[in-house]
Amino acid sequence: MRIGIISDIHGNLEALQAVVAKIDELNLDKIVCLGDIVGYGADPSECIKIVKSITSNTVAGNHDYAVGGLTSINYFAPVAREAVEWTRTVLNSSELAFLRFLPLTINWGAVLFLHSSPDSPDMWNYILTGSDAIVQFRFFKESVLFVGHTHVPAIWNEEGKYLYPAEVYRMDPRKRYIVNPGSVGQPRDGIEDASFVVFNTDKWSIEMVRVKYDVETASQKIKQAELPIILAERIKHGQ
Ligand code: ZN
Repeated sequence: MRIGIISDIHGNLEALQAVVAKIDELNLDKIVCLGDIVGYGADPSECIKIVKSITSNTVAGNHDYAVGGLTSINYFAPVAREAVEWTRTVLNSSELAFLRFLPLTINWGAVLFLHSSPDSPDMWNYILTGSDAIVQFRFFKESVLFVGHTHVPAIWNEEGKYLYPAEVYRMDPRKRYIVNPGSVGQPRDGIEDASFVVFNTDKWSIEMVRVKYDVETASQKIKQAELPIILAERIKHGQ
């Protein structure tokens, strides 16, 4: 089975449409979404609609829960807070309810999916470095953990080594890994293209995929929505 794993869409419709087209082209069997469907971008409602139509396997991100009122925005950066407040005003009550009812984790036997980190999935800690990864391996027992949240694609092994493959990484079935597919709607690794991974459960491999999308239109829409201007700029630079 080949599973498309997407994360951190952040209301960026143009990026999500490009990723969905690529997933169709690859003819994948299943899709899992690691959360943060909304926040930052101008089309949260459209993005919720698309995610609901392509998968019933979505975990909650901090922005989803913040917009739904389940996570405090006090610790959010001012720009993120502003985006959460704006997003609340454009979603209807059933969209807000959908965000509130997203689970924090999904477990498929040897594989665990969640947005931030397994030590406390609702505290929204980041796995940014090898030492962060080493600590987090203690908090789950599955072979592979998929996380989002940092917007930076990564594969970590138990020694905290960063394995970021050019194309396909074949995992050792006797070892354990933490995999981050990067972000669909707001990549932060200096590359503006939308990012996701294909997890092949037969070959036990991870393929990193980047997809070009209409960044200019997504950026213009953020400006027109009068969201913080920095949000329109950063997506052009993959930041
Ligand atoms: Zn995010």
